[in-house]
This record gives sequence, C-alpha cells and structure tokens, in this order.
Amino acid sequence: MPHTVIESAPSLSPTSPAQAPLDVARLRQDFPILAREVHGKPLIYLDNAATSQTPQQVIDVFSDYYSRYNANIHRGLHTLADEATAAFEGTRHRVRAFLNAEDARQIIFTRGTTEAINLVAQSWGRKNLAPGDEVLISMLEHHSNIVPWQLLAAEIGFTIKVIPVEANGTLDLAAYRALLSERTKLVAVNHVSNAFGTVNPVQEMAALAHHQGAVILVDGAQAAPHQVVDVQAIDADFYAFSGHKVYGPTGVGVLYGKQALLEAMPPWQGGGEMINTVSFDVGTTFAAIPHKFEAGTPAIAEVIALGRALEWMESVGVSAIGAWEGQLLAHATQAAGRIDGLRILGTAPDKAAVLSFIVDGAHSQDIGLLIDQLGVAIRTGHHCAQPLLHHFGVDATCRASFAAYNTLEEVDRFIEALQRVINMVR
Ligand code: PLP
Repeated sequence: MPHTVIESAPSLSPTSPAQAPLDVARLRQDFPILAREVHGKPLIYLDNAATSQTPQQVIDVFSDYYSRYNANIHRGLHTLADEATAAFEGTRHRVRAFLNAEDARQIIFTRGTTEAINLVAQSWGRKNLAPGDEVLISMLEHHSNIVPWQLLAAEIGFTIKVIPVEANGTLDLAAYRALLSERTKLVAVNHVSNAFGTVNPVQEMAALAHHQGAVILVDGAQAAPHQVVDVQAIDADFYAFSGHKVYGPTGVGVLYGKQALLEAMPPWQGGGEMINTVSFDVGTTFAAIPHKFEAGTPAIAEVIALGRALEWMESVGVSAIGAWEGQLLAHATQAAGRIDGLRILGTAPDKAAVLSFIVDGAHSQDIGLLIDQLGVAIRTGHHCAQPLLHHFGVDATCRASFAAYNTLEEVDRFIEALQRVINMVR
C-alpha cells in the first residue's frame, strides 16, 4: 500500500477561542499521580519544564491501543492496521492544527525535540552548510540545540556564533542584528528558555534572519506547553517540540518544516517506511514527506497518545493555561523575592512558567534533596544549559516550573518548604 497522509482530518474537537479561567480543582482530577504522597507528604510537582504529568485520558490511550488495535501502520490491509493508521495519522492532523501549519505533510514525528534538531542538522545542515558559513545560536540554548551543531561544525568546518544575553536573561537583539551577515545560513534559537523562562521574540528574529537569506529553526520544547504556537505567524522554517512536556508521553516529538525545505532535504535515516522502491540494480527511491523522514516502525501508541494530550490541552484552552501559569509565576516570584539571600536568575519582562534561583550559603543540590523530603519536586543542576549558567557565574540553580494543574496553595507550600530547608542548611 502506498504511504498516505489521510486527506481528511478525523473529527477533531475544535480549539476553543473562548478562554474561561481554569477550573484547576477539576482538571487536577484528570491526573492520578497528583494524588500520591512522597515521603508521607502530598506531592507538589514543580518539575514541569523537565516533564509534565499525564492525564488519565492520555494514559488510557495505551491500554486501549494495546488491547484493541495494536498493529503496524501504513502497510497492512487488515482492520487493525487501518484503525492504527487512522489514529496515528489523526495525530498528524491534530499537530498541524495545534501549530497552525499549512499542511499535515509538514509534520514529522520524531522521538522528541532532540531528535528533531538532529534531523535538521544531519539532513538540512549536511546538505546546506559549508566551510565559511555561520550558524547563529543563542546563549540561552539547551544542549540539544548546541551539540548537534557542534558535531556537524567539527566535520564540515562552519562557524558557530553565539547571540549574547543581557543581565536579566533577555537576548541582546542589537548583538543579534550585528551578528547576522551574508555568511549566516541558519539561526537556531529556542522560543522559551528552559533554564530562565525567557520568551524570545522569535517572530522578529525570523524576519531578521530571512532578511539575510538565512533559515530559522525554533526549538519550541518550552513554548508549546504554555502558549498558542503559530508557525506561520512566526514564519519559522523549522519548529520542534516534545510530547512529554505537553502532558503527553515520552518517546515522541514533532518536527515542523516548511514544505519546500523538507522536500529538498535528503533522507536522514534509511529503512522501511521511508522508501518508494528499493532495488539492487537501479537504486532506491524515497517516499514523499513526511514519510521520507520516518524510517522504521514509529512509536505508534505514543503518537496517538500525543494527539490525545493536545486534545486535552485544547479542551482546557492553551491561552488559559498560559495565563494561569503566569499568575502562579508572579505569585512565586513575589514570595521568593522575600526570602533572604535568594537571587532569581532570569528576570526578563516576558517569561514562561519557570523560576530559577540560587540561595546564598545553600547549595542548590542540598535544597533539591531536602525539599524532596517535604514532598516538593523541583529540579536542581545545570538544566542542560551549561554555557548559560557559566556565563552567570554559577554551575547550578534550583528551578521550580509550573503547569496547568499547579495551585497558588502549592506555591505557598513550596515557599514555606523552601524557607524551612534554607534554615536547615545555613
Ligand atoms: N530544548 C529545550 C528548550 C528543552 O527544555 C528540552 C528539554 O528539556 C529539549 C530541547 C530537549 O527535549 P527532549 O529531551 O524531549 O528531546
């Protein structure tokens, strides 16, 4: 059977433009894990930037899939294969709508943001970058938007230049303008910084990149969970995000690309699913996008579950989620500011739901371990952004990050617990 991206979108519940305030108490009931205790205390989960929790509707996809229609997709002629293919391709349509992409063929399933960026590096980058070219990344990048370019630069010999940050964690746009030149072939930046929460002006950055004839890749891993993303409005050439940060499962993510770019790119991995014909005599021809980039059996249940997670987000309202998290962040920022010796890193005016901080006389690691004993899960360390932390003269911070299901009471309990822990270690 030839590869298909099913033409008509399966019935999708519409994204509601009306954004009523969140009924947090109700939506918390969707998350069984939030009812558990840690060290005898109610769990307060504030590590959402690393991985968000998963609603029952998404968890149910796995038992439903494996108990009713587990089958390999695209190639089968039997009912189970048809059902699995329809559900899998249904997610492609849902992601298209979620990102406002032009066409479902521009949505490629990957294992996550990391793999999506590596795909662009190995396919687009290998074909389009040459010695003397420049790739601009920013000081705010996650390692997954640094290392793939370093690996390729070591082979090809292009130069990586870094857009600096201001003291409050915003990108220095004047420096960005100055760095852009006819040598710039690619700008690769995150939409939202995972370490500081800074929201970058990617639309403006895309316009400036395009003015120089450069392509822009936007790492949306920390934006997709918190704000409505419109790849056409941004005019992103590539946009990536991960399932496990948008209330979905691990092992699945998305690369969006502009159609002409994707069509001109060579395959990245070879194998089944990505070919038209294979021959020892006349060579192999490749499938059209998106299948050209989806070699092998994909994570079928995970992709279907990702679709369910996006449906959950849309039923709650993506803008409403972002607005609520903004309230949580403002409340936490104010309360943390009253703690003696606590310094917040990243105080950009436009921030997503991330509070990164250090405390005089207290190691971040100790804070993380001790606050866990009080039931509070935060992240400590370099957050896979070592160059950024190094630039700010620290090797670790504590990071609390918020999601739709967090409450103001949880923020208060987190701040109380933090104060207790600081008193213990000082
Ligand atoms: N980019 C950013 C900004 C991130 O925060 C993360 C994960 O924390 C990644 C990329 C990598 O995502 P994944 O590990 O899901 O591939």
